[in-house]
Amino acid sequence: MATHEGGQRIGVRTTFAADGTASRRLSVYCVNRGASVELAHCSACPRCTGLQLPTDQRDGVVTCVPAPAQTSADPNSTLRAKVHAVMSRDVACVTEDAPVSRLHALLSEPGVSGVPVVDRAGHPRGFVTKGDLLRSPSRPVKRAAGEGPAKGREALTAADVMTPVVFAVLEETELSRAAALMAMEGIGALPVVMADGSVGGMLTAVDVLRWIARADGFQV
Ligand code: SF4
Repeated sequence: MATHEGGQRIGVRTTFAADGTASRRLSVYCVNRGASVELAHCSACPRCTGLQLPTDQRDGVVTCVPAPAQTSADPNSTLRAKVHAVMSRDVACVTEDAPVSRLHALLSEPGVSGVPVVDRAGHPRGFVTKGDLLRSPSRPVKRAAGEGPAKGREALTAADVMTPVVFAVLEETELSRAAALMAMEGIGALPVVMADGSVGGMLTAVDVLRWIARADGFQV
């Protein structure tokens, strides 16, 4: 969740490229601006009073004055919460030319049901689920005339297996709208995009269920 006791959680988007390198973008949802900002903005902001960023860059927190308003626990407002309050801000992405082996590794991690495929600016270009990997061809992929020889399975990239249509929501979208989209499309995870159109988080069906349960006092 974006809000953390004592401050705002620092989100981490990690993007894996074809050469195996990983780049990271750190962001914070600023309640005062109503949008995510890059961590550099926070550290330079006159309201910033503290920055905790562990060496592995996970679970970092920014504190500022005045403290950002906490999301209401009023059960009547549970589904009127905005997506940014519920989503996971730790999201792994791949570029279109990343190998399928990277997707297998990411999708085998607990709680990861889908991986956004992004361009160099972090804008979504596609989405890969475990089902997409299961449906990926087990034989060499025939190329169209002029596109070179057939591709072996080991040479497949994210672009070869992704669904090129991405359902995504803005971080300011109401949770009920995001839940309705997931239900209508029969999908269990949605990339969340920031004001610049780049991926800033992921919202899963489990995130929504956990949010509802916590609003009713369950410690989950
Ligand atoms: S430190 Fe400044 S930019 Fe960062 S969340 Fe607080 S008010 Fe927003």
